[in-house]
Amino acid sequence: MFDRASVVTPGGVNSPVRAFQAVGGTPRFMVSGTGPYLTDADGREYVDLVCSWGPMILGHSHPEVIAAVQEAVSRGTSFGTPGEGEVALAEEIVARIDPVEQVRLVSSGTEATMSAIRLARGFTGRAKVVKFAGCYHGHVDALLAAAGSGVATFGLPDTPGVTGATAGDTIVLPYNDLDAVRAAFAAHPGEIACVITEASPGNMGVVPPADGFNAGLKELCAANGALYISDEVMTGFRTSKAGWYGVDGVRPDLMTFGKVMGGGFPAAAFGGRGDVMAHLAPAGPVYQAGTLSGNPVATAAGLAQLRLLDDAAYAKIDAVSAELRSLVGDALTKEGVAHTVSAASNMFSVFFTDEPVRDYDDAKKQDVFRFTAFFHAMLERGVYLPPSAFESWFVSTAHDERAVERIAAALPAAARAAAEATA
Ligand SMILES: *Cc1c(COP(=O)(O)O)cnc(C)c1O
Repeated sequence: MFDRASVVTPGGVNSPVRAFQAVGGTPRFMVSGTGPYLTDADGREYVDLVCSWGPMILGHSHPEVIAAVQEAVSRGTSFGTPGEGEVALAEEIVARIDPVEQVRLVSSGTEATMSAIRLARGFTGRAKVVKFAGCYHGHVDALLAAAGSGVATFGLPDTPGVTGATAGDTIVLPYNDLDAVRAAFAAHPGEIACVITEASPGNMGVVPPADGFNAGLKELCAANGALYISDEVMTGFRTSKAGWYGVDGVRPDLMTFGKVMGGGFPAAAFGGRGDVMAHLAPAGPVYQAGTLSGNPVATAAGLAQLRLLDDAAYAKIDAVSAELRSLVGDALTKEGVAHTVSAASNMFSVFFTDEPVRDYDDAKKQDVFRFTAFFHAMLERGVYLPPSAFESWFVSTAHDERAVERIAAALPAAARAAAEATA
């Protein structure tokens, strides 16, 4: 299948991380998923710790989500008109997340952050955007810029195809460094439209915000007339009922969502302060649109999933996450492997270093070759981890004792493989 795919699709995949390039080997083609398990094209079963990169927070093929999808599909798949499902999903989001007074539905997290930034620029009449190295906000041109650490610097494009002019309005700063943000505002008075940050980063591995970091961002933005945009595409409806906002309570001006809220379908959103959202077309002048935005099947799946995510569901996810973190930590300690298990609520990842990880540069100092060995040893034993040392691991309400036992059984050999690995 990978050979076939490689003929008709660049690199054989429709999203680069799926190709296993960071870990080597051949990606698994999955044919079905049930609860915490995935089955590949060769009939092998895996305990899934990727959960579609977050969305499958109730496990695969949850019967109530599937039923909601089937019911929606039976009425048609897209109308290009307003519909009740999108209103109900928007109401659910607004009810859960206090800073969101209004919300616009889109089809991907990328679209959500791209649109939020356009809106921030339109609202403030300013051009520049501050982002942090190691934070991923989708493949938005202006946000595909990273930079060296330590000093405020204009973003250099991370990829060919993004022009210097586009990335030139992006200021990339080291994560968890409020002094750098202060310096950027001082260097560019009246020019910064917004600061965008992952509410708690999960795209450089899990690197939670230091105490007071998000609150400091909010304060600096407010003092300088810029908007504070919290990207909750990954954390939203996962790290608590109200996402990371439910954990740290810092009120963003705008927020972005995706992943969990789509229930496994392409649905995402951006929202926030009513006076800012009022600038969006057709209420206001900032244009934004989408043929499939608010799609009835996607919104039915998202709504069904959110309605099942009550306090008991989060308690379950938190508990299984804590159990896995301690199992993984114990296995690595037993083999003398330097590591840090880093968690933000129920999101977690393992850095193969015992130095503290506060930003992207710290994360990059880990022994990636040990992760590679660990990853393949787990895969051989039927545990599907993210195929990169810089990704969060995800669990679901479906990860029961049997699934945890299978992970626990795979860990000793994987920890040994990590210990024996050479660079
Ligand atoms: C996944 C992700 C995105 C991009 O979402 P897509 O649906 O893949 O476009 C944006 N921001 C964060 C924090 C993400 O984790």
